[in-house]
Amino acid sequence: SIIVFGSINIDLVATATHLPTSGETLLGNDFFQIPGGKGANQAVALARLGIPTHIVGRVGTQSFGAELLNHLQTAGVQTGNILLDETVSSGVAIIIVDDAGQNQIVVIPGANGKVNHEDVERLLPLLPTTKALLLQLEIPLSAVVAAAKAGRNANITVILDPAPAQSNLPAELYPLVDIITPNEVEAGQLVGFTVDSPESAAKAGAVLLQRGVKSAIVKLGAKGVVCATAGETFFVPAFSVNVVDTVAAGDAFNGGLAAALYTGMTLRQAVIWGAAAGALAATKSGAQTSLPDKLTFEAFLKE
Ligand code: ADP
Repeated sequence: SIIVFGSINIDLVATATHLPTSGETLLGNDFFQIPGGKGANQAVALARLGIPTHIVGRVGTQSFGAELLNHLQTAGVQTGNILLDETVSSGVAIIIVDDAGQNQIVVIPGANGKVNHEDVERLLPLLPTTKALLLQLEIPLSAVVAAAKAGRNANITVILDPAPAQSNLPAELYPLVDIITPNEVEAGQLVGFTVDSPESAAKAGAVLLQRGVKSAIVKLGAKGVVCATAGETFFVPAFSVNVVDTVAAGDAFNGGLAAALYTGMTLRQAVIWGAAAGALAATKSGAQTSLPDKLTFEAFLKE
């Protein structure tokens, strides 16, 4: 199997003609309730591709816990290692979007913010039968580091998506990571210079290798992907698709990447699978709703 250790969220989205100003009460148009969180998105991406997937994390029973569990189960993700935290709300993003597409967002970490080394304990029994561990940065860093250590000790592939962007990751984290997968913004924050081209991405990759990761995959959106690994750096172009919205393209990429590694493919082939899954996610709107299923994915790769 593959394990995702990370965030589980619900997005509560209200649309209105304009964004409310302070003190204003506004009549809106629509309301949507959309499951998200980078951890959950990556787990759903994997399950849709037919990979046996566990997620380890927390939801809060005070709000949306049951809905989030139910949704993950429906997507085919194993949820037996999610802790139902009775002391908090689930991770929630309150989002207002206006007609021009501008937004205001408040994120409440809720249960995600409480993930700690105790949750890593639930991870340990799964590790011997696991091929890879997927991590992101929407839970406390100390828990990410503890999980990476556990993954490294168990000799499985540790994949870190350093998202949302952070400029100061602990130095001890890099050597615990097999593959780090920043996008342009995240890579820029990590290395301290602008990353917006294959050339600058290759430079960023070299810096990240020097910090101790085995491979660095820099996602450049429609500009393709650069992968730096011991002895070689290669470029994989983006697939040409009709883009609707790129929300969750990065999560789809990591799902495709890990799915390929699970099936025993080379790193280069895995980057191509990641790019294909990312491109497919960009052709549909929404986060988890846009993640491709196995049939769509296989048909796309054959084109
Ligand atoms: P993130 O979603 O984390 O910001 P990117 O925007 O780089 O990351 O998207 C992740 C991957 O999805 C890209 O590396 C690429 O493979 C694919 N992708 C994203 N946008 C496009 C696009 N416009 N055309 C084709 N592929 C895309």
